[in-house]
Amino acid sequence: MIYDLHAHSVFSDGVLAPGDVVRRARAHGVTTLALTDHDSTDGLSEARSAANQEGLRLVAGCELSVSWDTHLIHILGLNVDPDNVNLQNGLATLRDIRTQRAEGMARQLEKHGIPDAMQGALRHSANGIVTRRHFAQYLVELGHAPTVRTVFAKFLRHGKPGYVKTQWAPLQEAVGWISAAGGIAVIAHPQRYGMTATRLRKLIQDFMECGGEGLEVVSGAGADDAVRSSAALAERFGLYGSVGSDFHDPELGWNDLGKFAALPANIQPVWTHSRFSPAQGQA
Ligand code: AMP
Ligand code: MN
Ligand code: MN
Ligand code: MN
Repeated sequence: MIYDLHAHSVFSDGVLAPGDVVRRARAHGVTTLALTDHDSTDGLSEARSAANQEGLRLVAGCELSVSWDTHLIHILGLNVDPDNVNLQNGLATLRDIRTQRAEGMARQLEKHGIPDAMQGALRHSANGIVTRRHFAQYLVELGHAPTVRTVFAKFLRHGKPGYVKTQWAPLQEAVGWISAAGGIAVIAHPQRYGMTATRLRKLIQDFMECGGEGLEVVSGAGADDAVRSSAALAERFGLYGSVGSDFHDPELGWNDLGKFAALPANIQPVWTHSRFSPAQGQA
């Protein structure tokens, strides 16, 4: 069994349609895939049809934007019921925040001599969810930078002209929406927040007090020491360990579907959790 429990489609900032994400995962030997778009579960029905055709097990997921302390944190919801009203209301709130932030980003970019950024970003978005990646694509199109990655460094990171400080969902609310929808909350890519070890432990304590249960121990092609640090935290706090590519784009080879290290043997896998029950494909 190969699990990949973190992947994006065009329903947020990925470049493939949900069906194509599923088929690519299958081609890479993934047997259980979670589609975890940012602040949306709208890609899941297409992913589910494809998973049934491919005989792949699909986990209904999402990746929620959360503000904790001064940090933007990502919380994965695995095995959520997409029809849960609590969760959908929460996701709608997050998408409203996204739209307001996007309008703020466009105003700031306008002052910086970059016109029509809202329309430009929306053109790159398949379903109206505007992420920084869509602004990046527009800025590359205008020739302000050669690649999406360089645009982030020049325009979209903290302290740069297009950056807008944003209050996302509080941790307690986001974990609450996932729990209400029967899902398992998992802190995504814990080593990517630039936190001190002390702050990270405090985040985990707060997260667990809210009912959070998992930590993404293996995230994409992260460095070995990142896996070791996360594994040590999962063990210390008794959290379930998750693994995922955080796939967005086939051209970014370092986080392709199914391509990452194994979960260390001493960590309890999230797929052994009693509420983890992906839909079985039929083929
Ligand atoms: P947002 O949720 O709209 O703030 O966008 C964040 C997304 O931008 C992340 O989920 C990544 O997919 C992407 N991202 C963040 N930093 C970079 C970067 N340096 N280069 C390319 N993509 C990035
Ligand atoms: Mn993303
Ligand atoms: Mn993330
Ligand atoms: Mn992600």
